[in-house]
Amino acid sequence: MVSVTPHFFNLIDPVDFNCPIRKQVIPSKSEGVIQAWEDTDPVGEESSMVTPGLVHRYPDRVLFLVTDRCGSYCRYCTRSRLVSNAQGYGFHPNFENCLAYIKSNTSIRDVLLSGGDPLLLSDEKISYLLSELASISHVEFVRIGSRLPVFLPQRITSSLLNSLKSHSNLWMSIHVNHPKECTNELKDACHKLASSGIPLGNQSVLLKGINDDAKTMKSLIHRLLMMKVKPYYLYQCDLVPGSSHLRTSVTKGIEIIRELRGSTTGYAIPQFVIDAPGGGGKIPINPNYVKKSTNGLWVLENFEGKTFEYPSD
Ligand SMILES: *Cc1c(COP(=O)(O)O)cnc(C)c1O
Repeated sequence: MVSVTPHFFNLIDPVDFNCPIRKQVIPSKSEGVIQAWEDTDPVGEESSMVTPGLVHRYPDRVLFLVTDRCGSYCRYCTRSRLVSNAQGYGFHPNFENCLAYIKSNTSIRDVLLSGGDPLLLSDEKISYLLSELASISHVEFVRIGSRLPVFLPQRITSSLLNSLKSHSNLWMSIHVNHPKECTNELKDACHKLASSGIPLGNQSVLLKGINDDAKTMKSLIHRLLMMKVKPYYLYQCDLVPGSSHLRTSVTKGIEIIRELRGSTTGYAIPQFVIDAPGGGGKIPINPNYVKKSTNGLWVLENFEGKTFEYPSD
């Protein structure tokens, strides 16, 4: 399925075939290359789907997929098996069943609304879901994962902000991959959300030829900080069928993180993670700064490659 909002489409450079915006949303013939280890359910969500729409993998939090629609369809989408229904998945989340499951499981303290994009629902539906969650005393923390501030910044209307404002435990994760996406419109949308008391994080996907170099990544995370957005995760690209042309090596990702550490604000540095195939969840991947630990001595390497010792078990 191809669908791109006019706002995002207008960011495409018409004369640059390698435009980082183009590559995210316009199909390429490389998508015909399918690798043996690629999987339509690359992070094993189906086996943890407790009721249609609700993925319960970690004991204390759930992923609540509220729709299969998105503002634009990313070529590397983890959930391409179900978004847009292009593959005939027939995704129909039953809100009442999902809410009932959350209500009856007192260990769930964190609910992540995702999809598809939750902000494509009407203000009324969003308010309904947030109010229902607010009425469950064990739910302490609610997040909306949305790329609409990036795809359709005009969705951040004053009426939406008014309904979000009343929820004091609400955070939002947006998804920006390249500094070109950091338009004035996105900045305004983020500032409005932040002014409404919603802390913002960003989740980027490491993508070949799009953001897989330290210079681009540094420019992106600096822009994010200026928009009041904390870079949260940098994902190694999931093993989505037909996405190998967009995947970068894990080694490259580690190198980028190493280059950022020590050369920019700590707040700006996202955690690099691999969402493990087979449903293992997110696993942090870090440069190895701890060289060895023998006889109660930790040998630590700093950002300049110098070593320091710290005595401890
Ligand atoms: C990413 C994810 C979460 C949230 O994980 P955090 O590390 O808290 O951001 C919860 N459930 C599932 C299934 C997820 O994939």
